[in-house]
Amino acid sequence: MQHYDVAIIGGGPAGLTAAMTLSRSLRRVAVLESPADPRNACSHGVHGILGLDGVSPAEYRGRAWRDLARYGMAELLETEAADLVPGPGEEDGFEVVAEHGGPLWARRVLLATGMTDVLPELEGFRECWGATVIHCPFCSGWENRERAWGVVTADPEFAAKAPRAFAAWSDDVIVFTDGAAPEGDPGVETVTGRIRGLRHDGGDLRAVELDDGAVVERGTLLWQLDQRPVPLVSGLARNRGLVLREDCYVKTDGSCRTSVPGLYAAGDTITETQGAIESAASGSTAAFQIIEDETA
Ligand SMILES: Cc1cc2nc3c(=O)[nH]c(=O)nc-3n(C[C@H](O)[C@H](O)[C@H](O)COP(=O)(O)OP(=O)(O)OC[C@H]3O[C@@H](n4cnc5c(N)ncnc54)[C@H](O)[C@@H]3O)c2cc1C
Repeated sequence: MQHYDVAIIGGGPAGLTAAMTLSRSLRRVAVLESPADPRNACSHGVHGILGLDGVSPAEYRGRAWRDLARYGMAELLETEAADLVPGPGEEDGFEVVAEHGGPLWARRVLLATGMTDVLPELEGFRECWGATVIHCPFCSGWENRERAWGVVTADPEFAAKAPRAFAAWSDDVIVFTDGAAPEGDPGVETVTGRIRGLRHDGGDLRAVELDDGAVVERGTLLWQLDQRPVPLVSGLARNRGLVLREDCYVKTDGSCRTSVPGLYAAGDTITETQGAIESAASGSTAAFQIIEDETA
């Protein structure tokens, strides 16, 4: 069985930044990365990272691996991690069971798996997702500036502040409750019908169709989707004592340690405040903590 100092599950900004810090600290690292598309694969460019603004998610990862290759300490294993079997003692590490290839052993494991977005099964949604149906104004607001916006939310507080919150990007912001009927703010134009589908031209949103047949012209929807943990994390919560918060993110102690000794978590999987920079910073924090705990 191959032995590593640290196994990192997930090769996005959190996992790769941790791999960089650990590589430069002369730790032997395995990065297990699922062959499935990452969550942000539909993004046309990752924004807000100085020096890399607008690179595609694939280019970001490619550049990270070129940087990591200089140190020769990190190995990419293109496979899905299926389970982590802790050794009998707290310092005995983990057997990492992968979908493909034999198991490996690591003294410590970092979960950097991101989250899964729950996409609605609506005609036109997937074509527009990431381009004109967006989840975050900081990521994609600039590309959608000066269009007619709809904010899809059932949260009356969020709905009430939407026009002011997004005014810099659009002076025409209305709210869709998608079937929910919150009390709402009389000053905010609100459409309460359930959304049946999206009309678009090659992913360029044109209008929202409602169940009652009404059609509301819009160029952009800001849609905050529900998220759920990836299957590995749900399995660890069921079978290995990993504690999740009520809102389903992995619970950590503030320094990326989870409830399972030797198991750490970083990036989107521990917070709803999500971004490439935030995840990278969290991966770096996790690596610092792993090194500190090893040498304590
Ligand atoms: C459409 C879209 C556009 C975005 N645009 C921006 C932007 O412009 N700027 C910005 O800062 N942020 C943006 N974000 C957010 C940003 O992409 C995320 O916050 C960031 O990628 C999270 O990094 P992460 O490393 O925590 O997780 P991820 O990047 O999601 O990486 C997790 C990786 O783990 C892998 N994985 C999961 N389970 C397993 C397993 N069992 N075994 C092996 N591998 C596994 C996944 O396949 C994935 O590759 C965007 C997100 C989306 C969805």
